[in-house]
Amino acid sequence: MMAKSPVQPIKIGISSCLMGEKVRFDSGHKKNAYINGVLSDYFDFTAFCPEVEIGLGIPREPIRLVRMTGEVRCIGSKNASLDVTDKLSAIAEKQRQWHEGLCGYLLKKDSPSCGMARVKVYSNDMPKREGVGLYAKTLMTNFPFLPVEEEGRLEDAQLRENFIQRVYVYSRWKAIESQELSLTNLQAFHAQHKYIFMSHHQTKAKELGALLVGTHQADLRQLAGQYLELMTAILKVIATKKNHVNTLQHIQGYLKKQLNADDKAELVSLIDDYRQGLLPLVVPITLLRHHFRKHPNAYITESYYMQPHPGELMLLNSI
Ligand code: SF4
Repeated sequence: MMAKSPVQPIKIGISSCLMGEKVRFDSGHKKNAYINGVLSDYFDFTAFCPEVEIGLGIPREPIRLVRMTGEVRCIGSKNASLDVTDKLSAIAEKQRQWHEGLCGYLLKKDSPSCGMARVKVYSNDMPKREGVGLYAKTLMTNFPFLPVEEEGRLEDAQLRENFIQRVYVYSRWKAIESQELSLTNLQAFHAQHKYIFMSHHQTKAKELGALLVGTHQADLRQLAGQYLELMTAILKVIATKKNHVNTLQHIQGYLKKQLNADDKAELVSLIDDYRQGLLPLVVPITLLRHHFRKHPNAYITESYYMQPHPGELMLLNSI
């Protein structure tokens, strides 16, 4: 049987307007159909609007990021005496407790409060897309390993799959962190995720595995911190076709003695079709799963690469 994803709905923070709440400056919302439709079956969303929370009201004067004597402040677009910089940072700080329990966060793009990146920063009324929303900035500083993404980027199949995969990996990481940390647990976690890491970055995946070799129990907390930091960096690298092909070929190696010449040729041909962009990743993975059902292998059965997230999300069908 293939390795399972966590059964409990995974907790995700989200900008309230993306859930359809009418909290925007103009009393509108930005309900996102994919998040509210498909993802709501898998994720338990906690919606939060920092601008409402600091008492700006609905409707309200719009705010924007402005560069002033070297620092970026968040002030009223029309009334420059309205400065909410400190309030927005402080309100993010106050949410630490529920932020701790999250496995991901979806933010509204372009917002001076919620935007993750490329938010307009004005200088002499000229905007440059170089800013980060102030609530988002504090959130990401406090939780540097939390998977964070913007709703607009979820429209890109690779970015969507990458974010959701990171959420599932992080939720499993948090599960082992919540148990008593042991080298055995860390090594088991690594074994289950090794092929996922390999599909993102082959050299760094090896470095990650090397961290767990020859370590003494006393180093465990420090080791887990190093592991998490490197794992986060690896998963942020978008998995390429080339790396997926390499990973599929490694996994195929476990069937060397079990498959006949025809089955081998079919598998090689499907992996090559995937490499050429003629088939999505789900096709060679489905054929591999089929062969491993007939010829079980404990190491591959436990590998989340073969089922990184629920199949119903169909994320492997478009990459
Ligand atoms: S982007 Fe953030 S601050 Fe703006 S309305 Fe949505 S939740 Fe509120």
